Amino acid sequence: MDHDENMAVDTEEFKSEMLTRYPAKVAKKRKRQIVINQVDAGEQVPEILANSRTIPGILTMRGCSYAGCKGVVLGPTRDILQITHGPIGCGFYSWSTRRNQTRPETPDSPNYMTYAMSTDLQEDEIIFGGEKKLKAAIDEAVALFHPKAIGIFATCPVGLIGDDVHAVAREMEAKYPDINIFGFSCEGYKGVSQSAGHHVANNKVFTDVVGLDDTPKPGKFRFNILGEYNIGGDAFEIERIVAACGITLHSTFSGNSNYQEFISAHTVDLNTVMCHRSINYLAEMMEIKYGIPWFKVNFVGADATAKSLRKIAAFFGDKALMEQTEKVIEAEMVAVRKVRDEVKARCQGKKVMLFVGGSRAHHYQELFDEMGMETIAAGYEFAHRDDYEGRKVLPNILVDADSRNIEELKVEKDPERYKARKSEEEMEKMKTEGFTFNDYRGMMTEMKDKALIIDDLNHYEMEKLIEKYHPDVICAGVKEKYVVQKQGIPLKQLHSYDYMGPYAGFVGAINFYREIDRLVHSKVFKLTKAPWQDSPELTANYGWTN
Ligand code: SF4
Repeated sequence: MDHDENMAVDTEEFKSEMLTRYPAKVAKKRKRQIVINQVDAGEQVPEILANSRTIPGILTMRGCSYAGCKGVVLGPTRDILQITHGPIGCGFYSWSTRRNQTRPETPDSPNYMTYAMSTDLQEDEIIFGGEKKLKAAIDEAVALFHPKAIGIFATCPVGLIGDDVHAVAREMEAKYPDINIFGFSCEGYKGVSQSAGHHVANNKVFTDVVGLDDTPKPGKFRFNILGEYNIGGDAFEIERIVAACGITLHSTFSGNSNYQEFISAHTVDLNTVMCHRSINYLAEMMEIKYGIPWFKVNFVGADATAKSLRKIAAFFGDKALMEQTEKVIEAEMVAVRKVRDEVKARCQGKKVMLFVGGSRAHHYQELFDEMGMETIAAGYEFAHRDDYEGRKVLPNILVDADSRNIEELKVEKDPERYKARKSEEEMEKMKTEGFTFNDYRGMMTEMKDKALIIDDLNHYEMEKLIEKYHPDVICAGVKEKYVVQKQGIPLKQLHSYDYMGPYAGFVGAINFYREIDRLVHSKVFKLTKAPWQDSPELTANYGWTN
């Protein structure tokens, strides 16, 4: 099917068809989570129901708050020793399964990311409490590793039996005053998805980590990237590019990061946000407390990368920096254009569906656009309405009972360290020149009319989508991969990148073009049906004749 044929599918009819299989109560809810896109004047898009409780038994793609806190936000930093407080499953299944890469400064520098440290709670501790065991685990970790910082991550039973990870952290910090010890109340049942864990992580990193050391990194034009987790080396590629432009990347939260970069992250002049969902809280709070402005960037897609680099250079407003940035873009784009033109000739018009986390379903549309491929359906596992519809809807978002137990911090200006990075006049001038601060337009505003937007997609709906649209490629995660491929459709994992990467930046764009070209043209997906299923009366000759 080409674009016109796709759009000829009556999406309203298709939506009703999908919903008819559900019990009435379920259909009523899913109806609000499945939206047919339409972008009106002023970038108004239809309202979507997001960040609401998962329907039991529906085979969701979602994970838990512990996964969002420990797995996503803190996991990629190499020298904060991380202890999972709970039975062994949570720590074991999240052990090195996210491909956050890291490069310790020297071979002897600490890197705890290869370990899965857990208190391995047993029945006794569930009955009599696990705090004693947690303290023993911290003693053991200190004796073995002497870390600068220890994070404790609460799992489901910890909250239920009443273990207080924060009290243990305080007590152990008094015992080891030169180690920063802090706990996260990220029990898996908090909130409705990974998203709650992001918020819990942001809060604690803000209150207990950022701002402890006022020493800036040397270098001009210093900035942070928030929400880039160095999957498959993405952050390495971004580091390479910004260094070539002459911009100083102080800290990435949290791909290829270390504790020292976190504690001094408030000394920069600019925060840029990649994954809006997981870390917009920290950007907001750092602006209020320290006066650091933030804006959204995207390093996924060569054009998006160029645009983001120009925006950062323009923020600093230095002529030489802007010129050098242009030179870097020009040089990098030579190789990008060559591969892009080649693959575009083969991939033009092919159809994509993306159902990924809380930002990639949007970011990767840039790369597909560059290849001439079209996104006909997309959705997130755990994004909120602002990620779909843009931050303009923030004042209208109601926090429901399931998310009310996630703390909203009250943040104030730091009396000594607050420093406006730009004067009000400068900020105003930049805004009139088209700069947007504290803003994210959301995924739907950049998608075509009639595209299907589905929040918290499940297996049944994925099957229906395949049946109706036969997309050329679907992007999702490992739980979906083999189910989809068994139906003859290639699936590209956009969490683990199918163990490849990087896909960010210029080199990443080239890698992605080639990979998608290979996937959509792979002959294997055309061989999923045995030949006799379509033409049962095969004739054959004997291969051996005398
Ligand atoms: S839901 Fe609970 S038990 Fe499951 S991984 Fe998350 S914290 Fe662990």
